[in-house]
Amino acid sequence: MLYKTRDEITKDYDVIVIGSGLAGMTAANIMGRHGHAVLLLESHNKLGGFATWFYRENRQHIFDVSLHGFPVGMIKTCRKYWSKEIADSIVQLKDVRFVNPQFNLQTDFTKEHYSKLLNEEFKIPQDTVEAFFTHLAQMNFYDDSELTNRELFDKFFPGRNDVVRFLMEPITYANGSTLDDPAITYGIVFSNFMSKGVYTFQGGTDVLIAKMKEELLKNNVDIKMQSRVDKIFIEDGKATGIILNGKLIKSKAVLSNGNIRSTILNMVGEEHFPAEFVQKTKEVRLNSSSCQVYMGLKAGATIPYIGELVFTSSYPTYDPQKLLDIKVSSRTFSVYYPKETRPQMTDARVAIVSSTNCHYDDWKKLSPEEYEAEKEFMIEETIKGLEAFVPDIRDKLEVIEAATPLTVERYTLHQKGSSFGTKFEGLDVSMNLHKTMPGLFHAGSVGIIMSGWLGAANYGAIQANAIESYLGTRGA
Ligand SMILES: Cc1cc2nc3c(=O)[nH]c(=O)nc-3n(C[C@H](O)[C@H](O)[C@H](O)COP(=O)(O)OP(=O)(O)OC[C@H]3O[C@@H](n4cnc5c(N)ncnc54)[C@H](O)[C@@H]3O)c2cc1C
Repeated sequence: MLYKTRDEITKDYDVIVIGSGLAGMTAANIMGRHGHAVLLLESHNKLGGFATWFYRENRQHIFDVSLHGFPVGMIKTCRKYWSKEIADSIVQLKDVRFVNPQFNLQTDFTKEHYSKLLNEEFKIPQDTVEAFFTHLAQMNFYDDSELTNRELFDKFFPGRNDVVRFLMEPITYANGSTLDDPAITYGIVFSNFMSKGVYTFQGGTDVLIAKMKEELLKNNVDIKMQSRVDKIFIEDGKATGIILNGKLIKSKAVLSNGNIRSTILNMVGEEHFPAEFVQKTKEVRLNSSSCQVYMGLKAGATIPYIGELVFTSSYPTYDPQKLLDIKVSSRTFSVYYPKETRPQMTDARVAIVSSTNCHYDDWKKLSPEEYEAEKEFMIEETIKGLEAFVPDIRDKLEVIEAATPLTVERYTLHQKGSSFGTKFEGLDVSMNLHKTMPGLFHAGSVGIIMSGWLGAANYGAIQANAIESYLGTRGA
């Protein structure tokens, strides 16, 4: 059932899921389907977490926030844990572009085409290209966490900053990773994308989340939105419920889809954990945040086809720090052509979303006046960047606005507006949470690997299994 905002929850549950990001929803759906009594609580007034959208001008404009591209594995994940109908709407992006001072290339982002470009455009010997891809395929999660991305690239492509840019820049955008992160995180995510290219959900995020909500209700998951959980209830060293609006709702297990640090340090409280685990949690570094500029075109306005995902940069070389600079020189344009993105709508407008990674603190420290000025600057620079592809874009725009890390923080409650969860060490804390606090589980963007639409959804499935083992119902 779908609770109304004012409804009181009076029953107990097998599992309470805090947060309806893709991880939380996927876990809730699996457990609901298996016959568990599941309550899904979401602080926001809609489901989806980062998998979200918003309207402007009486719904004439729709903007997708994080529907830029995910690996083909999402089809299998959706078919297995959601529905065939959802999986069947996932389609490949045809045209990914890179335009920067080092190269100007178009690709379908598959291993075959990347290998060809590395060989023919970057003049890397075929043996080296093959050895690189073989190395990635053989990387082992348990053995390889010491090697960094920098060391990996130095080994195969020494002195080739252009090659590193080609291989690394899209992944930096996809999950905030840098050259200092463990190469295993790059290997897994890059190989996932390379298997068959980049995919999107045709119909838009609004349609996807509506279908997921329908599926959750069909599987008897109880949902309540505008319900921010204050505390996780601990009794005799176990998680046995949550506190919502000062009231206890009991459950056999709790799954938090919130930020891992906030879950442990704020929602439970460090006094409930061994000092060593608290220390480990405090040492988990958050990942970077995001800025976006949303541009909606006037009714009837069109643009020439410029690709669907365009990685642009005016910076001379690949420099991960520069990718995060408040004075942006690199941005990714996602172009939503109405017929491809929302074929079900006859009056959909062209929408363009520019995304950049950035540091929360750069925006947080600004005065209100400085903050508005920086936003205006970012918008203006984004339009200028787009004019290189569509010279008359300024005249065609009807809606233009920007989001910063503070916007991300406000809407998702992620500490410091972290868009991609935590750095690698967060995975260990997340996966060991239920071993330290029985009954309490975490699923959601952590450790780079488990972030993004595919990583989050799959992590939800992994943790649903773990909860069912805890409840003694797995495979029952
Ligand atoms: C700008 C941007 C672009 C992105 N682009 C892509 C992309 O193109 N492809 C891709 O694969 N990934 C992309 N991502 C990443 C991807 O969207 C996320 O990794 C993924 O959606 C995160 O899912 P999650 O399950 O971790 O939960 P989240 O999306 O983080 O959701 C957590 C939910 O929990 C709720 N919550 C938190 N605390 C509480 C509480 N106390 N009580 C109740 N509810 C609570 C929040 O309101 C939120 O709804 C992007 C992210 C950003 C920010």
